[in-house]
Amino acid sequence: MSVSPFYSSNSLVKTLASRLNDSPNNTFIRYLEDDTRITIKSFFSTCELYCAFFIAVGIKAGDRIVVQSPKTTDSLCLYIATIMAGGIYIPLNPDFTDTEVSYYLSDSQPTIFICMTERAQSLTKIADKLEVPFFYTLGLEKTGTFYEEVYSRDAKFIDVVSRKEEDIAAILYTSGTTGKPKGAMIPHRALSSNALILCKEWKFTDQDVLIHALPVFHTHGLFVATNVALVSGAELLFMEKFDADNIIKAMPSATSLMGVPTFYTRLLQHPELSSSAKNMRLFISGSAPLLAQTHKEWSNQTGHAILERYGMTEANMVTSNPYEGIRKAGTIGIPLEDIKVRIVSEEMNEEVVEGQVGSLEIKGPNLFTGYWQNPEKTAADFREDGYFISGDLASRDSDGYISIVGREKDLIISGGFNIYPKEIELVLDELSDVIESAVIGVNHEDFGEAVVAVIVKKEEASLTKEGIQDYVSGHLVYYKRPKHIEFASSLPRNSMGKVQKNMLREQFKKLFEIS
Ligand code: AMP
Repeated sequence: MSVSPFYSSNSLVKTLASRLNDSPNNTFIRYLEDDTRITIKSFFSTCELYCAFFIAVGIKAGDRIVVQSPKTTDSLCLYIATIMAGGIYIPLNPDFTDTEVSYYLSDSQPTIFICMTERAQSLTKIADKLEVPFFYTLGLEKTGTFYEEVYSRDAKFIDVVSRKEEDIAAILYTSGTTGKPKGAMIPHRALSSNALILCKEWKFTDQDVLIHALPVFHTHGLFVATNVALVSGAELLFMEKFDADNIIKAMPSATSLMGVPTFYTRLLQHPELSSSAKNMRLFISGSAPLLAQTHKEWSNQTGHAILERYGMTEANMVTSNPYEGIRKAGTIGIPLEDIKVRIVSEEMNEEVVEGQVGSLEIKGPNLFTGYWQNPEKTAADFREDGYFISGDLASRDSDGYISIVGREKDLIISGGFNIYPKEIELVLDELSDVIESAVIGVNHEDFGEAVVAVIVKKEEASLTKEGIQDYVSGHLVYYKRPKHIEFASSLPRNSMGKVQKNMLREQFKKLFEIS
């Protein structure tokens, strides 16, 4: 490397590149298929090349760079290079349609938009119409206009652009289960502090090999996994997507896995799970609720207690079960160091007592600074004393462990009673013939909302709706019992494994309408 690798004037890059000087030749990314290895040094020298190009093109501090790319090493280089150049990185799900991409471009008004070559024809028109100044394509094997321009310009890297802790490093759009997705502005400070806290909490070192099978357009795969590996010097065993066979193959040469709950439920079906998982150090789950049942089955089969943590786009990681100490199934653990969590009642705005449900609020260095060009929504989601209203409903037990009960907007109010869907789902999931369930509220003339349960049952199951109603009557007070039960072959989920309740609500919205 030609220049000092400390990148000291750029808050986040300085933190993320902290291993570059000590162990430049350690592997940062490894591919299982062909054992290709990318060292920390070669990763950062590609980042420098792209950063120099962005600066040569005329990127200014705070400019946005939108990238819609499949998961590749270069997609991570573009993330780091954007931040090195003082820009704001905005990754988009490669599956987003042209209409969706058009929304994100018009909302974020980037200076540069980079997309996959095969999407160029239609997306170039959209980028032109929205007057995006620079449009490049990324193809396989370093083809595409981005690489052509980078290599023909051959800009020399001099230094990173200076950026402070409060400057914005990335905008991640929230999954948008209601209304249009909103851009969460994530400052350097939030990403650095979270990476350092998680490394310490989960005891990551340069001896770790972390299986990375998550997408890199979401907090979990882009920030948690990637930043923790960079800061600790751990190796990433990089996989384009989740594939149970590949993970089973990877585990004997890995130490840790970060996954969403569906990774774990699918791996549990694999006959070689217990032998393959033997030497692993740590299994982490988050982004959606992990059923206590899955936690127990995993422990029975592998001898490992999954460590469940909780976070969100706006707040990065917030709580975690302890590395040492009890990892309680069905809970998200306790707040991470330096992060404050309070659970407040709706009516009183004061903290609820142990066991009671309230709205979960967060304060700490992990927080975003607000929604992009949406001061009203930002103001509505922050309390005067700086706490962010997460929108999640939660309760705390006598040991301080927190459980998520659901999203505030998923709360069902039926006949004046507050009903938390999770409580009903837990009862339904106890039935051995039930694979999974989702409970929603549907408009009802009499009750305001009525409880509807959508259930996925085992193929061979003889379970009937009447049988379920009988069982539920023995477990839940009358107003929590479903007014309607629907069997489905699967639940709609997004790419992070979250059940899309808004789709179910849409599907069943006319269920109780009197024609
Ligand atoms: P996102 O912004 O897409 O990461 O979604 C964040 C939301 O996912 C949170 O507000 C929670 O509703 C949910 N979530 C994340 N982790 C967990 C968890 N461990 N248990 C339950 N819900 C979770």
